[in-house]
Formats: sequence, structure tokens, C-alpha cells
Amino acid sequence: MKRLDLPPIQASDTVLTCASGITIVDRAQALVDALPTIQQSEAEYLELGPTGQLYRIAPSDSVTPAINANLMGIIYKSHFARQGSPSRPLYDQIKMAPEFGACPLCGQRIVATIDHYLPQTRFPTLNLTPVNLIPACSDCNKRKLASAPTNAESQTLHPYFDNLSDERWLVAEIQPSAPPTVSFTIRPAGAWDAVLTARVRNHFQVMGLEELYVAQAASELADISYALEEIGAAGGAEGIRAHLSGQFRSRHARDPNSWKTALYEGLRDSDWFCAEGYSQIRNRPQVNAPGEALHAV
Ligand SMILES: [Zn+2]
Repeated sequence: MKRLDLPPIQASDTVLTCASGITIVDRAQALVDALPTIQQSEAEYLELGPTGQLYRIAPSDSVTPAINANLMGIIYKSHFARQGSPSRPLYDQIKMAPEFGACPLCGQRIVATIDHYLPQTRFPTLNLTPVNLIPACSDCNKRKLASAPTNAESQTLHPYFDNLSDERWLVAEIQPSAPPTVSFTIRPAGAWDAVLTARVRNHFQVMGLEELYVAQAASELADISYALEEIGAAGGAEGIRAHLSGQFRSRHARDPNSWKTALYEGLRDSDWFCAEGYSQIRNRPQVNAPGEALHAV
């Protein structure tokens, strides 16, 4: 959900640097020989990516007759990404690009790996291509699995290409309950077409963002409950609203569509929350401990 700049390196950088660290002479030469094919595939990717058409790239079993998908996977894992290899700094450069190490796919968890947007098992010619390599947390990486999009709508968001605009589109809704119930919905921005709207919803579902954000919001509310009760005691509902408004503006300045921005906007705009909901955060339903019912009899 966070946009990233295109990597400042190309497939020629990763392929040749990777090949320079391969001591198996035939394998290194086969990789160098595959470079024109890999570059051709990279050019197609760069042409189709900005218009959301990567699903049109055909899968393949091999890069060249000498390098099948399995060998390309070995080259990626055992040579390109291997600690101490000449190409590892390029791997790290891609992996460490996001600010504060935040996964661009969920915007919340910490980057732990690199995800192949088009999976390496089915698109071996893009295995070492930087623009296909997305920094990701392990959860997002696992959730995506090796699935490949078959149409425009089924494509998850691509941090190097998709720009969801700064218009507000992630909305938190607050339901009166004790403790307050928070849910998140997507309100399509004006500039989105039907395909982008479907892709954002698909991305949310695949990455499990609704559950993630609901859990984070509950934790955030628990964190701020004492402070809100103090503010409420001193300034009432208007004091609460003014405080939440400041929190919203501060988060909006960094990211207009983070779950925190949406949460504080939703809290600020909820008359119920500002008047009394804030005092219900710690009001958890009582759960009887095992055996307690017996004592009560
Ligand atoms: Zn993630």
C-alpha cells in the first residue's frame, strides 16, 4: 500500500554481478549468455507495468535451453542472494529501500525478504530482474504464494507502478460498543477506475489487511485509553475531538491512507466516541475463569 521508487539498478547489473560470483564456469557463462533474453523480458515488464498489464506476460519453463526455472531458482538463492556474494549488496539495496523498513504491501509489518511480483517458478526470465523484486514482510510474502494474476483485476498492487493518489480512500468506521468496534473499508478515490478498485480490494483480501488493521487499531486504542480519559475529564467531548484531530493531521501528513490516519479520522468524526466511547475502551467483557462459576453457585 506504499509506493516505492523504481530500483536504480537493472537486470544487466544483477545478472552480470551475480555471474561474477559463480565459480562453476559453465553456469556463470550460461547466465551471461541469457542476459539478452532477460533484458528483453525486462523491457516488456517495464512497458506493461505502468499500465497495470503485467498479467499479459506469458509464463515459461526456462530462460534459455541451458537454464530452466529450477536452475534459475538455485542461481537466485545460492548465488544472487547468498551472504558474502558480490551480488548480495544489490539484493540488500532492493530489500532495504522502504523507509523505516516498512513492508510496502501491508504498510505495517517489517520487511524480511524479497517477493517476486511475478513468481520465480513460472517467470524464470524475471527472477533476477530488479523491477520484479519487491521488499516484503514474511506474512505478505507467504500470503501471495506463487500465484500469478490471470486478468487485470486479480493483480495485487505493485509498489513500483501503482499510485493510489493522496486522496483519502481508506476509511475506519467506529461502532458503539464496549470496547468500541473499529472496521476498515475502502472508499474508491475519484481517479480510480473499476479495475484499480477491484485490484485494491483483491490486494486487501490476499494480504489479510482488514484483520491486520483491526487488530492494530484495537491495540492502539488500548495504548491511548488512559490519556483520552484524562483529556475527557479536563475538556469533555470537544477536548477529545481536538486531540484526535491533531493526531489525525499528524498521521495524515506522513501517509494519507495508513490505518492510523483512517483510525484517527474515524474516531474524530464519531460523536459517540468523542462523548463517551473513549471511556469504554477498557470496558472489556468479563470472562469467567475456569471454576469460577462453581464458586458463584
Ligand atoms: Zn507486509
